[in-house]
Amino acid sequence: MRVYNFAAGPSTLPLEVLQKAKDEFLDFSGTGMSVTEISHRDKAYMAIVEEAEKLVRELLNVPDDYCVIFVQGGASTQFAAIPLNLMHNKKADYIVTGNFAKKAWQEGQLYGEAVKIGDSSDKVYTYIPDVDKLNYTEGADYVHITSNNTIFGSRYSKFPKCKAPLVADMSSEIFSREVDVKKFGVIYAGAQKNLAPAGVTIVIAKRDLIQDPLPICPTMLRWKVQDENGSLYNTPPAFSIYMANLVLRNLKEKGGVKAMQDINEHKAKLLYDFIDNSKLYKNNVLPEFRSIMNVPFVTGSDELDAKFVAEAKKVGLVSLKGHRLVGGMRASIYNAMPVEGVKALIEFMKKFETENK
Ligand SMILES: *Cc1c(COP(=O)(O)O)cnc(C)c1O
Repeated sequence: MRVYNFAAGPSTLPLEVLQKAKDEFLDFSGTGMSVTEISHRDKAYMAIVEEAEKLVRELLNVPDDYCVIFVQGGASTQFAAIPLNLMHNKKADYIVTGNFAKKAWQEGQLYGEAVKIGDSSDKVYTYIPDVDKLNYTEGADYVHITSNNTIFGSRYSKFPKCKAPLVADMSSEIFSREVDVKKFGVIYAGAQKNLAPAGVTIVIAKRDLIQDPLPICPTMLRWKVQDENGSLYNTPPAFSIYMANLVLRNLKEKGGVKAMQDINEHKAKLLYDFIDNSKLYKNNVLPEFRSIMNVPFVTGSDELDAKFVAEAKKVGLVSLKGHRLVGGMRASIYNAMPVEGVKALIEFMKKFETENK
């Protein structure tokens, strides 16, 4: 039986995509081989990488003067790649709105002056600092943000308007809502939240920013090199890119990012409305900044939280345990989580509340 999987990442993928991958696993595109066995220089495989890039461009409306590359090492490796490609003046601004934002900031400190210009840790990352009131550093090479905070369940409702290029970690929300790529210098995202199995990371970067990486930047982390080689500088994460391509095709069939955003907003509203109207459950994020992808909630009792997670699992609602930094529960309701999954969760929450008054 397929469960409803609320994991934060790796996470649920569209059933049609899994089915398709299963169907063609032994014989990919008439090659008589699986996609994991084929050379990455084979025409049939190169066509996948090209199609995936084209779909990313189309779905996010990426301007031509931006590269779209598929790289390895997860979003965490990009925490280093960002300063290594961009930090010419040896200073950059960071807005620390959660655990991953903090890690990116810490990594930035290895390469230069990483200035923390905003920080919402005073209220356990339940809000985003007002981006219009921050003290942006003159001459900074970039401003780094984490657009959606996976662990704490918050997201930017508006983005900084800064002089320096804006660099955004969109790992847990890429393709979930429309964004104006032109407003960013770099957008990057590990795939395993909203796009594909783990192993591939997308980087979308304005080409004129990436022509001059720092001399110490490893070749593999040079976005320019990856761009010039069509993401095939070395052996790419072949299976993950293949799966990403299937998910992107599926997203296009479903109407694209705007259609998905409408569904995501509907799913999130159902869940937040229920939580706000219940006596048992509480979400602590300021409503303006609530994520439509990751929804943490608590009952106020660790014991009851543990019971909730265990009982939910018994009825096929799995991976609801919150991150250890927050406790309680977290429902990640990425693109691939159907509305029915959210409704099933709410029904369970109702029943659990009645039984545990
Ligand atoms: C999961 C996550 C990461 C870390 O991704 P890895 O691929 O494990 O390195 C970074 N940033 C955000 C926002 C995430 O959700």
